[in-house]
Amino acid sequence: MTHTDRQPRGLDEIVRISRAVGHPKNDLVVLAEGNTSLKTSEGRMLVKATGANLRTVTAEDFVEVDLDVLLELIRSDRVGDDEVAIACAAGVTWGTKRPSVEALLHAVCHTCAGVTAVIHTHSTPVNALLCSDQAELLTRGSLFPDQIVVLGRHTLLIPYIDPGLPLARFVLARLLEHTAEHGSPPRVVYLQNHGVFALGASTDDAMQVTTMAAKSARVLLGALSVGRPTFLEPTNAERIDTRPDELLRRSILLEGQV
Ligand SMILES: [Zn+2]
Repeated sequence: MTHTDRQPRGLDEIVRISRAVGHPKNDLVVLAEGNTSLKTSEGRMLVKATGANLRTVTAEDFVEVDLDVLLELIRSDRVGDDEVAIACAAGVTWGTKRPSVEALLHAVCHTCAGVTAVIHTHSTPVNALLCSDQAELLTRGSLFPDQIVVLGRHTLLIPYIDPGLPLARFVLARLLEHTAEHGSPPRVVYLQNHGVFALGASTDDAMQVTTMAAKSARVLLGALSVGRPTFLEPTNAERIDTRPDELLRRSILLEGQV
């Protein structure tokens, strides 16, 4: 691993958003759970090092890695789980610590066009659903207009798979399929019995997606507690997704003005 005086672009930004993610009032992570990443330049990302606590994270708790090295690792069938930590460390271009094994999933998310920031959390309401036999309801449809405005209409659910290379390989394949099917990548990837990845065009955008995914899960849990959820009709959902005033609303929501 290397450490030079060069400070990667976006370092202060990723520290700021990571501490917000780790704040207890948001109930998104506890202890060293969760991680964040930010594209710094073409082909590189800053990602949280293994073991760091998001609530108190500092610049030294991040490493910059070469995305191509990680993606090569994921695409290659010559590397097994035993060598993955060493191989990941070989991709570090700045920082003194070791990237978490979940850096592989961040690298996969950063292959999607337009993704600049990724936030991974173990939100309690989202995980309540992901750890139940109703997890599929998270991706079945949309319950309310602002959910569509922030999360989009099509989110992705991944079954439980061993963390590390097998999971990264599976998610990469499903992301490509999803993008081909819907014309754009999902803004949310749910991992069954694990947590959620929010894909954003900026750190604030990824935080909005994270917050709305948690709210959507709470609404779904509430709907399940009183009966069965009623999803918006596909035609109504599509109209919300495409009508000009909702597009304006989306830009206002994402700029944090409401
Ligand atoms: Zn996790």
